[in-house]
Amino acid sequence: MTEQYVFYFAPHQDDELLNFGAAITQDIDAGNQVFCVLCTDGSASGARQLIGNGETCHLHQGKHPAGMEVPAFVAARDKEFIGSCSAMGLTDDRILLPANRARDGALTPEHAAELMLDATRGLPKTRVTVKTLLPVAGVDQNPDHTAVGTAARSLWEGGAFAGLTLFYEPIHLDRGLLEGREMAVLRPQNEAQTARLLAAAGVYGRWEPETGRYAVGIHSVYDEFAAFVIAPHSLQGFAEQK
Ligand SMILES: [Zn+2]
Ligand SMILES: [Zn+2]
Repeated sequence: MTEQYVFYFAPHQDDELLNFGAAITQDIDAGNQVFCVLCTDGSASGARQLIGNGETCHLHQGKHPAGMEVPAFVAARDKEFIGSCSAMGLTDDRILLPANRARDGALTPEHAAELMLDATRGLPKTRVTVKTLLPVAGVDQNPDHTAVGTAARSLWEGGAFAGLTLFYEPIHLDRGLLEGREMAVLRPQNEAQTARLLAAAGVYGRWEPETGRYAVGIHSVYDEFAAFVIAPHSLQGFAEQK
């Protein structure tokens, strides 16, 4: 089989797991060359104020520091992203945090397209598949999430790469916002894949301030992680090959 390159574009740290995790582990195990690209710095999350409020917290055993500056917060989130990708089975050279990633909340489709073209440059278009979020109109979708899907679809329509796969967000399904939409539910295919996904989720709950780890993931979207560890899955809403 000819080598296939699969690029996942995650708008924020945690999207690679909560929205694509089951699919990523399957792609790795299928023998594809899998990459994961982080498109923003994740700096806008309200978890920064929460973690820096100097108070005790019921989400973890410990007390929050008094104050959390943006650079330390971004560094903590990047550690979680890298640790999560690594637990899923990606090697370091496949975990990409581009220097020109966007500020959280400011990702435009144009900027996302630039990141996509940068990451896939030089590879044979016929063997590249881009996987990211599906833009959903009429629901409360994070604009960075809408931007990656919009960019990917437009690049794919223009022939920038052969394969396009777009995922719905489990959170939207759980909230009843995806009624009547067709999707394939991808679940772990074996115990080992489940274990990798749970290990990745565990990274987002690590509280080790001495090493710059602040369990940002669970402070940010606790309910999503709680749902994920009960039944990890990805919701594939569109998959086509030109
Ligand atoms: Zn996100
Ligand atoms: Zn806490």
